[in-house]
Amino acid sequence: KLIVFEGIEGSGKTTQIGYLRQWLEQTLVKSRLSDYPSGVIVTRQPGGTSIGQKIRQVLLQPSTDTENLTSTSELLLYAADRAHHVERILMPALKTGHLVLCDRYTASTVAYQGYGRQLDRNLIETLNTIATGGLASDLTLWLKLDVAQGLKRITTRGETDRIEQAGIEFHRRVHEGFVAQAKQDKERFIIVDGSLDQTTIAEQIQAIISGYLQQ
Ligand code: C5P
Ligand code: MG
Repeated sequence: KLIVFEGIEGSGKTTQIGYLRQWLEQTLVKSRLSDYPSGVIVTRQPGGTSIGQKIRQVLLQPSTDTENLTSTSELLLYAADRAHHVERILMPALKTGHLVLCDRYTASTVAYQGYGRQLDRNLIETLNTIATGGLASDLTLWLKLDVAQGLKRITTRGETDRIEQAGIEFHRRVHEGFVAQAKQDKERFIIVDGSLDQTTIAEQIQAIISGYLQQ
């Protein structure tokens, strides 16, 4: 199974993936996780491969005026990272019986490049299909958080990347992109309240995942 974490900046995806991995490894290994003989893999987009890390660097380094990426070049770099990552990491891991936890996937591109950069959404759908080879997530957990709160969290955390530095209006549109996808796909797009404290969120996610894996 492919379980994806999504959310705006500062929503706590990376932290929660870490907790979930730990919990899965400790609690479930002996029971239901026997469906996943090879265990749990944690990975991310962009940057889940070494080539992907180079792409991630290009995408995220703060850049100067004329050399700034255009929206289209940005979109294609995310797609290139995804295509490479799906073929090299996700497909092989799923085939060999892993439970895969992925930090961001196609919903981020819909939200950031579709709603945030306002690129053509049909084009994005097509690109996502090409990049994933049709591999969809089994479950997407959206850590829903107020935009201002998220941005506050990352600025107090320290250095921000190129996209985090975009204005709050951009991030509000991204948020709307997640709202729209959650409405469209109630079955697979699960909303988790990202404003709660980390332990409470972790427990809620454990309940969701354990229910899901028992189905
Ligand atoms: O969450 P993570 O730190 O991995 O995301 C890296 C950066 O890439 C973030 O600033 C995020 O906003 C941005 N991003 C994006 N479009 C995507 C995926 C991520 O702008 N499709
Ligand atoms: Mg980030």
